[in-house]
Amino acid sequence: MKALVYTGVEELTYRDEKDPIEKAGESILEVQASGICGSDMHAYHGKDERRVPPLILGHEVSGRITNGKFKDKIAVLNPLITCGKCEFCISKREHLCPNRVLLGMNRPYERQGAFAELITVPNTNIYDVPKKLNVTEAAVAEPTAVAYHAVLIGEKSLKKDIKDCRILVQGAGAIGLLCSLILSKIKKNANIIMSDPNKLRLNECSKYLDAKFVGPSDKEVKNDSFDIVFDTVGLEVSRQQAISVVKPGGSIIHIGLTQPAGEFNFRKATLQEVTFIGTYCYTNQDFSDTIQILANKDIGNLDWIEYRQLKNGGNAFKQIHDGTCSAPKIVLIP
Ligand SMILES: [Zn+2]
Ligand SMILES: [Zn+2]
Repeated sequence: MKALVYTGVEELTYRDEKDPIEKAGESILEVQASGICGSDMHAYHGKDERRVPPLILGHEVSGRITNGKFKDKIAVLNPLITCGKCEFCISKREHLCPNRVLLGMNRPYERQGAFAELITVPNTNIYDVPKKLNVTEAAVAEPTAVAYHAVLIGEKSLKKDIKDCRILVQGAGAIGLLCSLILSKIKKNANIIMSDPNKLRLNECSKYLDAKFVGPSDKEVKNDSFDIVFDTVGLEVSRQQAISVVKPGGSIIHIGLTQPAGEFNFRKATLQEVTFIGTYCYTNQDFSDTIQILANKDIGNLDWIEYRQLKNGGNAFKQIHDGTCSAPKIVLIP
């Protein structure tokens, strides 16, 4: 098969790779679409110890099963592979499983990813694509589930209806856009501000929802003025802004993780009872709910996806890296 292989820092090579072999309890998917995620970019920059070259990245994937009991099923894969036996898996919080691994990682053990023509995956991770959802669009189920889970966690933490909150979403990438779409179109909030230093990205997001789109230092982003802040960036500076602008008693939902450490205003967090919640991935239930959300067009049409050929994927990575790409999500087609 052909695959786009991460062969070194900021280097991707489109080349022949061995086809995956059939394994008990697994199926092989012929990939029809596979999205580029922020975490793939992180790996591409050589900053992820779980993703060591050579490795096929990519985990936002849909296509057709080619063998076994699901042969010919049109499927989207939940890329989060968990043990099914630990206390977290049993209590339906599979994403917290200590033995979890994502497609497109090779530490602690190898799971080749989806920037390829074929991929093998446990049968338990195969989900049906409903007839009314296009198979290539289904690839965004994974990032959508990440955003959906974050919004649900945020909503639970609030002392008032999320519909009535003043909301800041930091970052106008895929997760920022998806959080905002869910907050606007499903949670019916009409008081969202999206911030990003990149005007191209803000402009692109402004085509898909009603919100205010501003730079991070805009006067709209005032201290003590948001009930809830979604940090999809995860830089020290975005966290510091989040704690400054959140209202007393408000919540910060931390989704991005560009810088894992740094200074934070613990004084305000304590004296003003700010809730800070880290959120990661999604439960299996969130993942299947998300597929229905996409199929029902609950977050609108998915015209913000840009499709490119897998063999040109290296260029797409470069453009995302340079900040010259306005599309919130690029999906590669083998
Ligand atoms: Zn992803
Ligand atoms: Zn587990």
